[in-house]
Amino acid sequence: MPSLDLRSLSIMTGMIDMALCVILLAFRHAYPRSIKGLLPWAMAPVMSALAALVFAMDGRWPALSVVLGGNGLMLAGAGLYYVGSQRFFGVPVTWPRWLAVGLACLASLGWYQAILPDYRIRVVLLACTLAAVCLAHARLMWRHGKGFGPRFTVAILLLQVLILLLRAVTTVFLDAPDSARFVGDVIQTTYIGAFSFSTLFICIGLLLTVSEHMREQFEQLSQRDDLTGVLNRRAVLLAGDRELQQWRNGGRAFSLLIMDIDHFKRINDQYGHLVGDRVLVHFVETVRQALRHTDQLGRFGGEEFVVLMPQTDRPAALATAERVRQAVANQASEDWPTCTASVGLASVEAGETTLDGVLSRADAALYRAKADGRDRVAVG
Ligand code: GH3
Ligand code: MG
Ligand code: MG
Repeated sequence: MPSLDLRSLSIMTGMIDMALCVILLAFRHAYPRSIKGLLPWAMAPVMSALAALVFAMDGRWPALSVVLGGNGLMLAGAGLYYVGSQRFFGVPVTWPRWLAVGLACLASLGWYQAILPDYRIRVVLLACTLAAVCLAHARLMWRHGKGFGPRFTVAILLLQVLILLLRAVTTVFLDAPDSARFVGDVIQTTYIGAFSFSTLFICIGLLLTVSEHMREQFEQLSQRDDLTGVLNRRAVLLAGDRELQQWRNGGRAFSLLIMDIDHFKRINDQYGHLVGDRVLVHFVETVRQALRHTDQLGRFGGEEFVVLMPQTDRPAALATAERVRQAVANQASEDWPTCTASVGLASVEAGETTLDGVLSRADAALYRAKADGRDRVAVG
């Protein structure tokens, strides 16, 4: 079976690595600084490219410097991917521990190169150390990442572990103690080719991870109200539509509340807009604490809020509405003015096909609560 020229293969993958570095740096430049880890990730393929360069000098440079330089750079590459992911997920960076592991590995490699030369022991040592880093990296990704990007990266990292362990096992049977790296046998070609190629997929997995993270952040931003952090009008209406569809498909009835802070204009007039804003934030906090975790709170506009209560009939919704109203009325603080709220409640009714009907009944009930003296719940 004709064998690939390993030197050319190494140089090719080195060039691909440099391209990956440029792409990762471009992402770093384009994305907000709050996204961490892109610099170590971008430097990782550079280490692999430099390692390929050093290995290509095999036979021209002193053997010890090729072994220590090339393998040291490979270890640094795997470590940098791992450190990048630690930074990306905001977990404590454990590079000092891994630096010690890497240095111990290099010292042993140096020993089995210069003092007791044995190619097989060097292969096992390097493969096992790299596999340990990749395994730790996969574990981190599995624990902290969600979505396709991290899962894809985990799969590739585990594939790398498998390749490395296979290499460690096969060297015992296939290589001689004085084998050389660039002897073009099938095993060596497959091993170096597969490992280098998988680096390309690791980078793809990481880029997917970053873009999914960004998309999630944008989605979050587009659904949230700036001031209070609760759902905005569009998001709460979408959630309401989804509830209605579920109910029409045979799901349980839902209810919703429209709440409006009483005489809020007076608070603004008396204390100013900034204090008014703080009152809104505290109001939201109080309401949130009085709600169940399945209820969804959204700001409809100004000092008007909506609570969507999935799978909640009218009596249960009334109990929650009353609890919320009391919680607001009982707020006590010396730091900001207190307020009360009026609440309109409506539950979905037979034959309803759009959310508008439920909303307008809740709105009409809210008007009644206001007209009846405020700080009360009315049912529509
Ligand atoms: P009512 O009891 O009838 O609801 O009286 P109200 O004063 O609460 O009602 P009105 O609708 O007259 O006033 C609402 C005020 O809310 C007017 C507006 O300036 C203020 N407002 C709306 N959005 C914000 C905001 O984001 N921050 C602040 N501070 N005030 C806001
Ligand atoms: Mg009001
Ligand atoms: Mg209002």
